[in-house]
Amino acid sequence: MEKFDVIVVGGGSSGLMAAINAAEQGVRVLVIDKNPKLGRKLLLSGGGRCNVTNRTTRSELIKHIPGNGKFLYSALNQFDQEDIIAFFEGRGVALKEEDHGRMFPVTDSARTILGTLIDVMNKLGVTVRLKDPIDSVLYEAGRVVGVLTRAGERILAPSVVLAAGGRAYPRTGAEGDAYAWARSAGHTIERLYPTEAPLLSHDEVIVTKALRGVSLRDVAVTLWDVQLDGLSAAEIAHTVCHEKLKALTIHQMDMIFTHFGYSGPAILRASGHVNQYLHRTGFKEAYLTINLAPNESREALMAVAEDMREKQLLTILKHWMPEAMAESILTLAGLDATTPYKQLVHVEFERLFDLVQAYPLTAYESQPIEKGFVTGGGVSTKEVNPSTMESRLTQGLYFCGELLDINGYTGGYNITAAFVTGTIAGRNAAWSSFAAE
Ligand SMILES: Cc1cc2nc3c(=O)[nH]c(=O)nc-3n(C[C@H](O)[C@H](O)[C@H](O)COP(=O)(O)OP(=O)(O)OC[C@H]3O[C@@H](n4cnc5c(N)ncnc54)[C@H](O)[C@@H]3O)c2cc1C
Repeated sequence: MEKFDVIVVGGGSSGLMAAINAAEQGVRVLVIDKNPKLGRKLLLSGGGRCNVTNRTTRSELIKHIPGNGKFLYSALNQFDQEDIIAFFEGRGVALKEEDHGRMFPVTDSARTILGTLIDVMNKLGVTVRLKDPIDSVLYEAGRVVGVLTRAGERILAPSVVLAAGGRAYPRTGAEGDAYAWARSAGHTIERLYPTEAPLLSHDEVIVTKALRGVSLRDVAVTLWDVQLDGLSAAEIAHTVCHEKLKALTIHQMDMIFTHFGYSGPAILRASGHVNQYLHRTGFKEAYLTINLAPNESREALMAVAEDMREKQLLTILKHWMPEAMAESILTLAGLDATTPYKQLVHVEFERLFDLVQAYPLTAYESQPIEKGFVTGGGVSTKEVNPSTMESRLTQGLYFCGELLDINGYTGGYNITAAFVTGTIAGRNAAWSSFAAE
């Protein structure tokens, strides 16, 4: 029967970091993965370029992790986004910063990141077993004692780090196996739901495919905590612009109309909130709006239009948006595209600008968890020590990565959470294995 000091189950982003940090403490570490290769999801991330972290402030980082970002405070005090950057740069991987603080390897290849992690791990003498799925975790008298492989082999260790991922993109190996192991140690699994997933809609522009493929740059998408059924699009836009409604979340980024609904960064960020809103309220649809000119006040919009008052409405709207979008707004406003702006009466230009600032959408669901980028929900953070990532219920059991009830927006926040929790779990798993000897 093989024995190690620390067993890390899962060789993805968090597991590799956990293994490195455990091995750096001088203990015998095993990484075991069901896949024939390590880091499959890491290789897909950031469109194959691996958005390795985000160069931002601590508070912004936490804000961009809407699923329990605050749980990471004490972990970030020990290892944060700057430490991730230093980790790679210190090992010869040049990184570059792109928009919104997103950090990528200069090579634009996730292989550079994965290769470095594997290299460091190998130099530290970590044992790696591939194509070896774990069946269950072994517990005795309130502490972990090892794991059982599906092939029936028991491997013993006083510390086990669960780094087996969530349930998004299961073809990468993250099939949700570890939830059962956590449950059998008494842990609560918070409801699993898709986040960073495209939204599905029955809206007319989607059903008719009128705007299919239209992409909007730098628009503000808002999810409202209100039901607006029975109102026309123009009435919804008016309500949103002139009444004090509660916004659940606002994201100013790009978005795109698809054949099934809405996608693109702003929508992906809103999607987890939509899912939770629909679950919490039981409503069939969530109401969202797009502000197509979010950097301009109503007065500024009107001043631009006034400057072009001789021009047709379509020409003026094209100042802020693609033609197909402008046509859709004019249809919803009941206005003719060829009408010169100067001919509009007050109520008409108010209606027009309401729709520019609050073009309404609905969503009845997001794509399923398997198609989302990130799993919402997971092992309850209430039952995990935030300074060590150790289970509060079972000694020697550690959690890290997407398995935990932590989810961030795209932009490097999930890999950051995985690297940070992996680092803390790995170090502490090693230290507690000394104590167990
Ligand atoms: C397409 C895509 C793009 C993404 N892009 C980004 C991005 O740019 N930036 C960002 O921050 N985040 C991104 N993410 C999210 C990010 O990649 C993940 O949150 C992160 O990699 C999760 O790391 P993890 O270690 O928790 O899990 P994973 O990386 O999923 O690793 C889990 C490992 O556990 C193994 N495993 C599972 N069950 C068993 C078992 N029974 N026995 C043995 N091994 C098992 C799996 O084979 C897998 O190797 C993206 C996700 C996807 C799907």
